[in-house]
Amino acid sequence: MSLCYREARGVLKDVVGENGLVVLEACKKGELTDEEIMKKTGFQLNVIRSLLNQLHYSGLIGYDREKDARTNWYTYTWFLNKDKVEQVVKERWKNRMKSLEVQLDDESNYVFFKCVAGCEKLPFELAAEYDFKCPECGKEMRHVDNKEAVTEIIKEIKNLQKSLHKLDGK
Ligand SMILES: [Zn+2]
Repeated sequence: MSLCYREARGVLKDVVGENGLVVLEACKKGELTDEEIMKKTGFQLNVIRSLLNQLHYSGLIGYDREKDARTNWYTYTWFLNKDKVEQVVKERWKNRMKSLEVQLDDESNYVFFKCVAGCEKLPFELAAEYDFKCPECGKEMRHVDNKEAVTEIIKEIKNLQKSLHKLDGK
């Protein structure tokens, strides 16, 4: 297990939302009761229960329960389902990687033109069809120097590769 939660935070937040992430991270340290999670997060109990239900439904957390012999009440303790969390993060990263590779391919194979007002970015062929006038606002479309964009895409791909390798190198 070598998921770096700091790197994975953005992805996890997309999946479970901001509050979900807070509860998820609270469960990271092992088995906690609803009340302990309340102390850690400062959320109301009903909010926590609804978040726990969602997180459990998506398989990201699990629970143990213990019956109090005296009261017959169950106490639930929640824990992070690390394998599932890793799987979800990995899938997201892989999808992001695929879309970056497509983007990189586009940027490397096409010449782009962009509206000076910023509304549209089109490949040369399309921009030419519009006579290099933005189809949105009619302003001029100029050639885009995409060197910086390409550098950014490559940088993100490399970072993703590093993160994915770390995950696989358990
Ligand atoms: Zn425009």
